[in-house]
Amino acid sequence: MTPSSHDDVIDNFRQVAAALQAALAAAGRPADAACLVAVSKTHPAERIRPLLAAGHRVFGENRVQEAAGKWPELRQEFPDLKLHLIGPLQSNKLREALALFDVIETVDRPKLAHLLAEERDRSGRCPELFIQVNTGAEPQKAGVLPAEADGLIALCRDLALSVIGLMCIPPAEEDPAPHFALLAEIAARHGLAGLSMGMSADYVEALRCGATHVRVGTAIFGRR
Ligand SMILES: *Cc1c(COP(=O)(O)O)cnc(C)c1O
Repeated sequence: MTPSSHDDVIDNFRQVAAALQAALAAAGRPADAACLVAVSKTHPAERIRPLLAAGHRVFGENRVQEAAGKWPELRQEFPDLKLHLIGPLQSNKLREALALFDVIETVDRPKLAHLLAEERDRSGRCPELFIQVNTGAEPQKAGVLPAEADGLIALCRDLALSVIGLMCIPPAEEDPAPHFALLAEIAARHGLAGLSMGMSADYVEALRCGATHVRVGTAIFGRR
């Protein structure tokens, strides 16, 4: 790739950031009410670095192994970056994930909550957490079922884990708005401020529905 081929990332990023600001303003929300998580999965470090150099600090990856291959070096250059895990977390990858990620958005089962608490007690590492809710109750999709979310949130509270919000990925073929509304309703019931919802196709709608974190990949980095 020629160096100039990365300019598109910065242009795309600026457009998404502007659309995010416009959506917040239109919804009467403050300019700092939502965080743009730039989803860099499948893209190499050379494509990510220009965005870091331009000042952006918050990124998302969906695989522990892939993140291990590119982020330690980037973190040395940019120690204040924040990396979010947005893909499923297997128990046997938990320790490695905690060493790599600042925020884990995909807590979805009691076993993982217990392991996170154990690991916190062992290592002192206490990342910020989102609980992933499978709002569409799709069998193939990760996330706790909406009916079981209350119980998992309560368990995390009992374990003194730092859950800051809820995350969802609405079914691809459906209007996302009812899913965003359901997520917001569960979060409100528990006094959780964070709502990670909205991707390239629907982040504007998500911001209208109260998203505090939007996870945008394709619209910034291009097709995977
Ligand atoms: C890949 C991914 C995204 C980004 O999706 P785009 O449509 O490329 O913006 C967001 N959230 C999760 C959980 C993902 O896996």
